Amino acid sequence: MSDSKEKSYNKIINRIIPKISRRVMLSASVAFIIPSIALAVEKSTRNKSVSKTVHKNSAKSVTKSPAILGKAKRALPVVILDPGHGGKDPGAVGYSGTYEKHVAYATAVELSRQLMRTGKYNVKLTRNSDKFVPLDGRVDFAQVNKANLFVSIHADALNNHSIKGASVYTLSNHASDAQSAALASVENNADKYGGPDVHVASPAVQKILASLVKLETKRESVAIAQNVVNSFKPRLGLLPNPRRYAAFVVLKSVNIPSVLVEMGFMSNRNDEAALRRAGYRSLVASSMCQAIDRYFAIGGSVTHLAG
Ligand SMILES: [Zn+2]
Repeated sequence: MSDSKEKSYNKIINRIIPKISRRVMLSASVAFIIPSIALAVEKSTRNKSVSKTVHKNSAKSVTKSPAILGKAKRALPVVILDPGHGGKDPGAVGYSGTYEKHVAYATAVELSRQLMRTGKYNVKLTRNSDKFVPLDGRVDFAQVNKANLFVSIHADALNNHSIKGASVYTLSNHASDAQSAALASVENNADKYGGPDVHVASPAVQKILASLVKLETKRESVAIAQNVVNSFKPRLGLLPNPRRYAAFVVLKSVNIPSVLVEMGFMSNRNDEAALRRAGYRSLVASSMCQAIDRYFAIGGSVTHLAG
């Protein structure tokens, strides 16, 4: 989409999204009000019958108010962590032979532990062991679980062993630079391990709503990506221009804010050595945990407007 077209789309969204929000709030209010009215009617009817009962039985029995058993819990935001590669797909092979799939998984497990400890999120991993999951299977998993946020975790390799540092990607059909395009093409190649049965997901959502949701999702994705970069900056080494974009298949959910975090390069000796250390992975995870906290604290996501 051209810049001017996108700007005019954004203007439309700014006008329409508040309406959608109002609509959502209105539906929520109606849902709240109707049970309240029902409860009030039920209570008044019950009180009438209670007073009759009390009158009838006079001093024989004392009627107690029903006990308040509890209140409904608010659903926690669902965060899907996606450790890259797995099983027959090792991902990048590091400077001294470390597999990317192991580093990605270990970091995802640590991040999951830290997020769960906050008690604020429902966290799920796209794989819970060293197994192969096709790219569209990862996207489908996020959809089935009605994710509010999708975070894919990687540490790839380049032919140039001197390049190091973390970077954070969001989806775009046009890559921010040649290096990002090359990375996306390597990542998207993971499906070659899946054989011919792997199908391409085809989101069949209504066209207009889908495009509105898609643009809002893009904004949210950029917001979480920027939060991750801000958290990494004072603690970890970053690539120059660490906020990048490219056409990663795993980021293609229309309605779920999605980012792909490259924690560093396995092809760089220092990055690989750092990512092999549990202490360093814990630092990466705590930075991401902080970014996710900040993201949800300022409004989180608008996922699943499309239903
Ligand atoms: Zn990877």
